[in-house]
Amino acid sequence: MSQEELRELVAETKKQLEHLRVLGVEGIQISAAAPAIAAPQPNIIPPVTQRIEPPPSKPPAPVASEPVTSLFGDIAPAPVKLTRSTETFEQIHAEIGDCKRCPLHLERTHVVHTEGNRKARLMFVGEAPGADEDIQAHPFVGRAGQLLTKIIEAIGLKREEVLIGNVNRCRPPGNRAPTTEEASTCKPYLLREIAVVQPDVIVVLGNTAMKNLLDTREGITRLRGNFQDYQGIKVMPTFHPAYLLRDPSKKRETWEDLKKVRDYLDSHRSSDR
Ligand code: URA
Repeated sequence: MSQEELRELVAETKKQLEHLRVLGVEGIQISAAAPAIAAPQPNIIPPVTQRIEPPPSKPPAPVASEPVTSLFGDIAPAPVKLTRSTETFEQIHAEIGDCKRCPLHLERTHVVHTEGNRKARLMFVGEAPGADEDIQAHPFVGRAGQLLTKIIEAIGLKREEVLIGNVNRCRPPGNRAPTTEEASTCKPYLLREIAVVQPDVIVVLGNTAMKNLLDTREGITRLRGNFQDYQGIKVMPTFHPAYLLRDPSKKRETWEDLKKVRDYLDSHRSSDR
C-alpha cells in the first residue's frame, strides 16, 4: 500500500468513526479475523510475477450480529454491539430526578422508572404509564400489567426475574400515545438502562415501544413474531397487553411470539449473569 493510499484509508476510517460517534456509538469491536493494516514498507512488495494470489474460496458472509471489519462508507456501517455501561440505575434515576424536560410532567403524579431484575436476560418495554402506574409509581401494575405478568409466567419465568420499563416515564394525559418529541426526550434513559443490563432479549410491546427502540416506520403487525436487532440484542416485537384486552383473539399470536423468546433464551444460556 502506498503512503497516499494509507493516508486515504486513515482519513476514510476517521470519517466513518466520527459518523458512528455522532450516532451515539461509544465503542466498536473489531473482529480478531480483521487483517492487520501493515505499516508502509515500500521495498518489500514482490515483483508482479511473484505476487501471491488470494485463495479462490469465497469469504464467509458476515453474520448480522457479528462485528464486521470494514469501515468504509460505501458499505453499510458495521452492526454495532452495545458496550456494557458501568452506570447504576440509581445514578440514572437520580439524573432524571423531578423531571420537567417535557410537557408530560405537567399532569403526572409520579415518574415511573424501569423495575425488576437488573441482571435479567429478558426485558419488556412498553409505551408509557397508565393511570394505575401513575398513581402507584410502578410500571405495568394495572389490568394490562396483570396480563403481562401472566404472559411472563406462561414462559416459565417470574415477574421478579425480568426487567420491565417504558419508553416514557410519565403518563400522557388520557393515555394518548407520547409525541415523537416526548418519546425522544425520555428514551435515552431507557437506552442507558439497557446498556447497563444488556439483556439477551427485549420484548417490545406494541407499536410505540417498537418504533422507538428500533427506529422503524414499520408497523407492529408486520414485524411482530420476527426477531429484530438493537445493537446486538435480540428484539421481539409483539402486541401490547392492553390491545390483547381489547382483542383477545390476538393472544394466540402473542403466545407464538413469546414461545420464540422462550426457545431463544433456553438455547442461548449465558454464563455471565
Ligand atoms: N401500558 C404501558 O405501556 N406501560 C405501562 O406501564 C402500563 C400500561
